[in-house]
Amino acid sequence: MNDGNGPGPRAETNSAPQAGEDGADVLDPSASATPVADRIRNRLLRAGRRFHANDNISSLLEEGEVDEIQAEVEARMQDVLRALVIDTDSDHNTRDTARRVAKMFVKEVFRGRYLPAPPVTEFPNVSRLNELMIVGPVTVRSACSHHFCPIIGQVWIGVLPNEHSALIGLSKYARLVEWIMTRPQIQEEAMAQLAKLLQEKMQPDGLAIVMKADHYCMQWRGVKDMDSKMTNSIMRGAFLKNTHLRREFLSLLSGESR
Ligand SMILES: [Zn+2]
Repeated sequence: MNDGNGPGPRAETNSAPQAGEDGADVLDPSASATPVADRIRNRLLRAGRRFHANDNISSLLEEGEVDEIQAEVEARMQDVLRALVIDTDSDHNTRDTARRVAKMFVKEVFRGRYLPAPPVTEFPNVSRLNELMIVGPVTVRSACSHHFCPIIGQVWIGVLPNEHSALIGLSKYARLVEWIMTRPQIQEEAMAQLAKLLQEKMQPDGLAIVMKADHYCMQWRGVKDMDSKMTNSIMRGAFLKNTHLRREFLSLLSGESR
């Protein structure tokens, strides 16, 4: 350490002494070697932002950092393979596994953490639709936060618009579902995130979501129950107050999901 004689500026972060200000502390040679994940984590902490597995952190990422994250995950994944005592030098099957898994996590199955929300145009309810609309089934592909095992299922969305609600195109529901689900998830939390997102975009009188999914952490490992599906629902607004509406939604679904 050369803190005593150097005129260099001191980073103001109190927790991580080597964090620097995103590499601006050029007098500290370790600053440029700060792993990108630590750099971003410090930024999130300073901003007071939560970064759980199913949180989106795109607004605090800078240009090129998603690729840097992918490179760091690849290096760490290579360490995991080494820890599993797999000879990736002579085993041609696993030689590129670290790279493949890193790409799969960052650019595919967990990309909903790193990318901003898909652009969705809302349009005014000119025909003043106020009847129950059901969208679905929309295919859900996610992974559980506990084991990173796939969750594959379907979701149905019921919307009761009012004359002031914004409407979104049918295909856009699937894109919003995908954005929420391409993160390590817990089914109930995924549903709550989706409900919040749709509520904000559309401001309907009522919103209902049902999700039915296979959790591979229960089929591939653990209890190894191939038939267990998890179904849960979330109701907002009119669907909470109006039992007739709720029954109508659920009965239309039971006809469809059979
Ligand atoms: Zn699990």
